[in-house]
Amino acid sequence: MRLVSLASSSAGNAYCVESGGRVLLIDCGLSWSDFKSRYGSAGFSLDALEGVLLTHNHIDHVRGLATLHRKLPEVPLFANLMTSEATASVLKMDEADFFAFENGQSFTAGPFTVSPFSIPHDVPDPVGYMVEAEGLKYFHATDVGMPLDSIGVHLADADCATLESNHDPVMVMESARPPLLKRRILGPRGHLSNADAADLVARFASPRLKELRLAHLSAECNAPAIAEREMREALASISRPDVILRILPPDSIL
Ligand SMILES: [Zn+2]
Ligand SMILES: [Zn+2]
Repeated sequence: MRLVSLASSSAGNAYCVESGGRVLLIDCGLSWSDFKSRYGSAGFSLDALEGVLLTHNHIDHVRGLATLHRKLPEVPLFANLMTSEATASVLKMDEADFFAFENGQSFTAGPFTVSPFSIPHDVPDPVGYMVEAEGLKYFHATDVGMPLDSIGVHLADADCATLESNHDPVMVMESARPPLLKRRILGPRGHLSNADAADLVARFASPRLKELRLAHLSAECNAPAIAEREMREALASISRPDVILRILPPDSIL
């Protein structure tokens, strides 16, 4: 299994999971041209695209989806019913363009077994995913309002993980953002702070976790060095300094 992030920030999110030459795309928050060039730079061909999984309907996760669907109509789009409806409405697509799944029900796409789980965020029915292939389990959760145990139990099962580490709460409060936006980011259906991400990992990471990728860092209200330091402290606290830690860049591949 190979993981490649094509973009990871509030400006755009797109993450690839590759196994046996097939690729699942989680979210499509890049323009078609940016998606195509970064996906190609990662060494993937469009023929290899097995499907697209949507986490939720915010524009930084669906921006390029309508064009992708027009260019590659044979590639299935997977989302739960409420995300399908909301995304179809935002992008002027047809709800029938989506294969609707139910949270908690696993399904297969090529060599992948996909298990969506609920997360708290300020949209209709957002999800994270467990993706299994080659006997490995990948955990994916961004745009997470709170570090709930119901999310942690999935992380506990993972060999590799992408987890949001969005902001430093003090930097959010000291930023020039309007009070309503600050409340939204920090609220229970907003985004996961560095400390919340570290807390989730410290409580739930199991001995099988080998690689952790921190995602969706805020450009204004976080810094890669701060997110990395807090997570390294959490990993040290559970005697897991050996976990490979990557900080995903906002607009280049890793
Ligand atoms: Zn987002
Ligand atoms: Zn969002």
